[in-house]
Amino acid sequence: MDYDVIVAGLGAMGSASVYQLARSGVSTLGLDQFRPPHDQGSSHGDSRITRLAIGEGEHLTPLVQHSHELWRRLEQESAETLLTQCGALMISSDTTRASVHVGNFFTTTLSAARRHGIDHSILDAAEIRRRFPQFLVRDHEYGYFEPQAGFVRPEACIRAQLLLAERLGAHIRTQERLLSFEAEGAAVRVITDKASYRTRRLVLAAGAWMPDLLGPSFASLFRITRQVLNWFAIAENPDLFTPGRCPVFIWQLPEGTRNLYGFPAIDGPEGGVKIASEQDTTTTTAGSVRRDVSRQETEVFYRDYVAPNLRYLSPQSLKARSCLYTQTADFGFIVDTHPASAQVLIVSACSGHGFKHSAALGEGIARWARGEGLPPGFGTFLLNRF
Ligand SMILES: Cc1cc2nc3c(=O)[nH]c(=O)nc-3n(C[C@H](O)[C@H](O)[C@H](O)COP(=O)(O)OP(=O)(O)OC[C@H]3O[C@@H](n4cnc5c(N)ncnc54)[C@H](O)[C@@H]3O)c2cc1C
Repeated sequence: MDYDVIVAGLGAMGSASVYQLARSGVSTLGLDQFRPPHDQGSSHGDSRITRLAIGEGEHLTPLVQHSHELWRRLEQESAETLLTQCGALMISSDTTRASVHVGNFFTTTLSAARRHGIDHSILDAAEIRRRFPQFLVRDHEYGYFEPQAGFVRPEACIRAQLLLAERLGAHIRTQERLLSFEAEGAAVRVITDKASYRTRRLVLAAGAWMPDLLGPSFASLFRITRQVLNWFAIAENPDLFTPGRCPVFIWQLPEGTRNLYGFPAIDGPEGGVKIASEQDTTTTTAGSVRRDVSRQETEVFYRDYVAPNLRYLSPQSLKARSCLYTQTADFGFIVDTHPASAQVLIVSACSGHGFKHSAALGEGIARWARGEGLPPGFGTFLLNRF
């Protein structure tokens, strides 16, 4: 046997898995077709929101709470700054038609906070304006503020986990692409564009490339969409955009059906303020997606989303990137064994809200790979729900 475990794909999920496997002394090979962290998949763009009361499902709160513990431990081991708890503001209203991934996002956030005892406050429009004058809220809007929420730095998390995994003895091979896998007795034969390996277990964490690896019968499980991120220059009052004065935010806009989310200026005022929305209407594939962002896309986004809702930001775009969501039909996660092989684990890219959970998911995936089964809390991630 060449390895106990091979992890294919070293983005958020794969890097967390190899790190946890290496920590527990399992012989591990991590493979990626590119050189992670890179900007071709789902884990780039400087920041990811993390929040403890999870509007996509109360059951996810313990997972993110544990991830916060793991991010803090990883910070100590790597001497990197990974998690910043600058607070999150969720803005909504009784009449909004904008959803965030699921229906009832705001009310589920609130019930998760109450059920799990998460510190929070409810702010009316006047209080939001007083504390955060950069948000142009309407009189009928209100907010949920969670002080322990904030953001993680995805590229730094991936880099730190891969570096530590290697130091702990894992083999990391980049620019090596998994082509196919098949059962070979109790083992799995893994063929790449460079070599062939025999492993006891295989973890597939290929993000938006998962349909290519799993074949047509699985393709309908995953819906891949192109998302656009823009970093806008600050025109006035840069102090209002420091992580101490500006929370991360998710806004169920009062008009239309889309939401708006964003971050403080996490790398100082010169780095700009990252703002984005989500689109769910046009699908794509990892191989055919348009990577660049046109000037027109940015101008329209500023005019329709930024200018009506945020003060003090300039239309000047400092940077723009596209990124891929890989959603399931219920916006949930998939972490389950392959129906045709109990030695192969399918790990999905987690529907546009998985980064914050990836540290704890990696720990659970490592537990499965050691032959100890998936953690009980992973019961909602199984394939049989589709
Ligand atoms: C714009 C955007 C905003 C988001 N915002 C948030 C947020 O605020 N909070 C949050 O918690 N989550 C957020 N998410 C979701 C989160 O980022 C994803 O859940 C997470 O990054 C998915 O990680 P992954 O490891 O599955 O995929 P990736 O990071 O894309 O990793 C997959 C890896 O597999 C490799 N690979 C693919 N095929 C092969 C092959 N055949 N052989 C070898 N390697 C292969 C790829 O090169 C890639 O490195 C957001 C996602 C996007 C796109």
